[in-house]
Amino acid sequence: MGERNMQFKDLTTFKIGGPIKHFFEVKSDKEIIKAGEFAKKNNLKIFILGGGSDILVNDKGFDGVVVKYTGKKLKVKSYKLKVIITAEAGMAWDELVKFSVEHNLQGLECMSGIPGTVGASPIQNIGAYGEEVKDTLLSLRAFEFKSGKFLNFSNKDCEFGYRESFFKKPENWQKYLITSVSFKFKKYKDIDLSLQNIRDEILRVRGEKLENPKEVGNAGSFFKNPIVEGHKISAGLLIDKAGWKGKSYKGAAVSAKNALILINKSGEASSSDVYELSKLIINDVKKKFGITLEPEVQFVGFERKVAILGYGLEGQDAERYFKNKKAKIKILDQKFDKDYLKNLGEYDLVVRSPGVYPYKPELKNINVTTPIQIFFDNCPARIIGVTGTKGKGTTSTLIYEILKNAGKDIYLAGNIGKPYLELLPIISPTSYIVLELSSFQLIDLTKSPHIAVVLNITLDHMDWHKSREEYVSSKKNIVRYQTVSDLAIINSEYEVPKSFSDLTRAKVILFSKSKLEKKYKENLLLRGEHNLENIAAAVSVSKVLGIKEDIILKSVREFKGLEHRLELVKEVGGVTFYNDSFATGPQPTIAAIRSFAEPITLILGGSDKGLSYDELGKEIAANKQVNKVIIIGQVGPLIIRSLNGAGFRGSIINLRLKPMVKIVENAFRNTPRGGVVLLSPAAASFDMFKNYKDRGSQFKEAVQNLK
Ligand SMILES: Cc1cc2nc3c(=O)[nH]c(=O)nc-3n(C[C@H](O)[C@H](O)[C@H](O)COP(=O)(O)OP(=O)(O)OC[C@H]3O[C@@H](n4cnc5c(N)ncnc54)[C@H](O)[C@@H]3O)c2cc1C
Repeated sequence: MGERNMQFKDLTTFKIGGPIKHFFEVKSDKEIIKAGEFAKKNNLKIFILGGGSDILVNDKGFDGVVVKYTGKKLKVKSYKLKVIITAEAGMAWDELVKFSVEHNLQGLECMSGIPGTVGASPIQNIGAYGEEVKDTLLSLRAFEFKSGKFLNFSNKDCEFGYRESFFKKPENWQKYLITSVSFKFKKYKDIDLSLQNIRDEILRVRGEKLENPKEVGNAGSFFKNPIVEGHKISAGLLIDKAGWKGKSYKGAAVSAKNALILINKSGEASSSDVYELSKLIINDVKKKFGITLEPEVQFVGFERKVAILGYGLEGQDAERYFKNKKAKIKILDQKFDKDYLKNLGEYDLVVRSPGVYPYKPELKNINVTTPIQIFFDNCPARIIGVTGTKGKGTTSTLIYEILKNAGKDIYLAGNIGKPYLELLPIISPTSYIVLELSSFQLIDLTKSPHIAVVLNITLDHMDWHKSREEYVSSKKNIVRYQTVSDLAIINSEYEVPKSFSDLTRAKVILFSKSKLEKKYKENLLLRGEHNLENIAAAVSVSKVLGIKEDIILKSVREFKGLEHRLELVKEVGGVTFYNDSFATGPQPTIAAIRSFAEPITLILGGSDKGLSYDELGKEIAANKQVNKVIIIGQVGPLIIRSLNGAGFRGSIINLRLKPMVKIVENAFRNTPRGGVVLLSPAAASFDMFKNYKDRGSQFKEAVQNLK
C-alpha cells in the first residue's frame, strides 16, 4: 500500500501542487510490479514522478497512484573504442554528467546543470547548448504497466524529436516507467577534451541566465521554441517583445532574467495563477506575431478545455482524439446553436473543422488549430498529400492501391479513407499515409507533406473563399513548407499547378496525361479522359517510390475507380452498368458521357438545385452515343425541356418517381447488347433517396439482382 499525505508542492521545483492520494517509492522490479498491480486493482491512474522539475501540478492534486523510481546505481563497461554507462532512472541527471566529464567522456557536458533525473531525460529529449540526450543515448529499459512487462527500447524506438519522444506522445504518456538508461561514449585516448572547462563555463552561464529553483519556484523553460517554416524561433524573444518580461500575474510572474521562465514569485502561487498566466502569454503572442507557443512543461491534473468547432467527420475524429487525452470537450456547431462562435476565449484550444472559415472575426486572437494540423504535427509516417480541384479522391485511392499491392505499409485517410487522427497510434515512421487535401484543410496548414501531388486547379468553393487568389494560395500550402528532401509531383499541362514548382524547395517531378506511356492508357476499367491525368499522377508517385512497373500496370488496369464516381458495377447480358451517382450537377455528367464509345442509356434527374440544363441538353443532343435518356425525379420536366430545346433525337422515357428497381429494369430492357447503362443524374438525390450514396447503392443492388 502506498504512502499517503504527500504533497506535490514538496516534490516539484515550482513548489506548487496538491495532495497525492497514493505514493509509491520503488527501486526494484518487484516493487514496480506491485505498484502497477495496485493501480490496476483499484482502477487508478498512474503518474510517474522524477525530480519534479518539468511539471506544473494542479492544486487539487492527483487522485491516483504516483510512482517514483529511486534506484541510483551506475554501471560502466569499457571497450576498446567505446564506453557504455548505464544509469538507473533515479540518479540525478547532473551527477551522471559530472561523472562523464570527470572520465573525459564527451557527449553530455553541455547539458551540465539541468535539474531532474536520468529517467526523465529521454521523455522530452532534454537538451542545451546544441547537445541533446538523443545524440548519446544508446538504449533504455522500461516497464509497461499495461502488459506488466519490462521492455528494451533502442535509440530509434524512442522516436526522438525536439523536446519530444515516443514516451511523450499522448497515447504513450504515463504508460512506461523507465528504470535505466544506457549512454554510449567514444573513447578519445590521450586527448584532453577540456570537458571540465566546458562544464564549468556552462554552469556559470546557467547560473546567470536561469532562475535557481532553490531560490524561486520554476520549471525552467516554460515554452518550446516554435518552429516556423522549418526554422526554430526563440520563444523567449517573442514573449519579451510582447512585453511580458518581468510582468506579474497574481502570485506568478514572468522571470525578469529570462522571459521563457515562469516563476512562483510569491512562493505561494496557485497552479491556476501559473496556468492562467501561460494562457495569457500564448494568446498575446498569437495576437501579436501569429505564432502559437506550446508549453514545454507538462501539466498534471489539469483538464484542458477544448472546443471543437464544426461537428462533421473531422470534428468527430478530433473529439475522439481529445477524449483520449482526457480533455474537457465542448462541441460547437451552427447546427445546434447559431451563437456557436461566442466566447471562444474561454477555451485553451479551439479546433476548427475544415468547413468553418478560418478568418472569421471571432477566431482572431484565439488559440486555434485544425484536425489536419494536429495530424501533420504528430504524424511519424511519410505523408503523400493530393490536391487539385477534381480527381483528388481517385488519385489518392489509386496511389493507395498501387502501394498496397507493392506490399507497403500504407493507409488511405481523410475524406475517402479512415479518420486520420485515429491512425496516429497505429502508424510508424515506415508507414505511408495518402491524404486527399482540400483548400479548406490547406488554408492555414503550416506544414507540407513529404510527397505533394498537385492536380489541375480551376475554380471551386467560391461561396467559401473570399477570392480566387485565396483559393489558389490555400492550395499552395501543399508545397510551401516542403524541404529539399521532399518531392512535388506536379501536373505540367496547366499553368496554375505548374506555378507551384517555383514555390517549393522540394525536388519537382512533372507529369501529364500526354506524356503518360501508352500501356497505362490501354485495357482500363477506369473510364474518362480526365482520369488519365489521375493515372499519370499516381504512376509518377509510384515510380518515384521505386515500385516495380508490372505492379503499377496491374494495379492501374484493375482499378475500378471510386464508389459512385463512374464506377463499373457489372456486365449483365452484354450490357455494362456504370454508377456515377456522385454527379450531382451537369458538369460531371458531361465528362461522364464523353467517356464512352458504346451506345449509352443515360439515367438523368433528381431534385432541383436551381441549375440550368441547357448546356447538358446541347451536349447530349450533339453526342452520338446517347440514344436513350431515362428521366427521373422532380427536375425531370426541366431536363426534358432542355433536351427538346437542343433538338435531341433519341428517345426520352420519363419514369418520374418510380423505384430504382423499376428504373434499372427499364434501362436494361431498352439497351442493346454491347451498350452501357449510365446513372449520372446531374442532380441532387433528395427527392427519392437519402443522399447520392444511397442512390448509387440502390442502383448497384438493383443491377446485381438483374437476371
Ligand atoms: C531551472 C531549470 C532549468 C532547466 N533547464 C533545462 C534545459 O536546459 N534543458 C532541458 O531540456 N530541460 C531543462 N529543464 C527541464 C527539466 O529539468 C527536464 O525536463 C528534466 O528532464 C525533468 O526531469 P525530472 O526528473 O524533474 O522529471 P519530472 O518533472 O518529474 O517529470 C517530467 C516528465 O517525465 C516523466 N518521468 C519522470 N521520470 C520518469 C521515469 N523514470 N520513467 C518514465 N517517465 C518519467 C514524468 O511522468 C513527466 O512526464 C530545466 C528545469 C529547471 C527547473
